[in-house]
Amino acid sequence: MANYKAQLSHLNSELELGETTRDVQCPFCLKQNGDFAVTRVDDGLLYKCFRVACDSRGFVPSNLGEWNSREFLPFSSSVRKTEEYPYESHIIKLNEKQIKFLKDKFYLTHEELLFNKIKWCSKTERIIYPILSKNGNTKGYVSRYYKELSNKIYDGVKSRTYWINRDNNYYNVSFPYLEDYGADETFVLVEDIVSSIRVARYAQCIALLSNSIPTNAMKLLVGKNVSIVLDNDAIAHALKIKKRYSLFFKSCQVIPIDKDPKNMNDDEVRKNIIANIKII
Ligand SMILES: [Zn+2]
Repeated sequence: MANYKAQLSHLNSELELGETTRDVQCPFCLKQNGDFAVTRVDDGLLYKCFRVACDSRGFVPSNLGEWNSREFLPFSSSVRKTEEYPYESHIIKLNEKQIKFLKDKFYLTHEELLFNKIKWCSKTERIIYPILSKNGNTKGYVSRYYKELSNKIYDGVKSRTYWINRDNNYYNVSFPYLEDYGADETFVLVEDIVSSIRVARYAQCIALLSNSIPTNAMKLLVGKNVSIVLDNDAIAHALKIKKRYSLFFKSCQVIPIDKDPKNMNDDEVRKNIIANIKII
């Protein structure tokens, strides 16, 4: 089956974004009777075979290599330049004031600050939230301005995202520290890193770093129970995600909230989010 990616890749140019076809043969069970669905998304193709005996599903990125014509465009949208900033040497331990601020504002514990490697940038005077892999490797940073902590004049950009160590296989989301991302089939999706740390006390969680699902993250989420937790402003968008990707999840629900999990106390997180997660 090694060649199924090449076999499907022509659909990148044939399908419109968001369009689904059921006309192609399943490269796994070789049936061609409408049971195999392929949908084009931002960076590739999602596929699923509805034959129970086959049940293949997955994602084929569009930038696979020479057969992909987009690769020859001078400015590929899927390639982002590595930012040079922040320089590691400016990233230092949090001081007592910053620790107290984060504990008071977001109900974070000392261990959560430590295990999630939250730090301070002395040059930009911002809190540095590392973007972490499942294993706790730093893939990038979100630097966040708080007027209470900085003497600098606010430059109009509250948070900036820097990727320092992202490879093609990375999911492009941030994993809050968990002792073990085990066999749990459920993922809660939230927008920001601090919210993901708060929810991770009770459920497996990832931070999308935006209000949509990065296409790379679909590789992680295919076949899982997915609960999308987004605030009311982003609900229309969340429903769109649900409609577009539902086929590929084991189950998918949208949990609307009126404030970010990071601004909820523990009772509110449990009552408004955790209690509403439906496990299939
Ligand atoms: Zn099949």
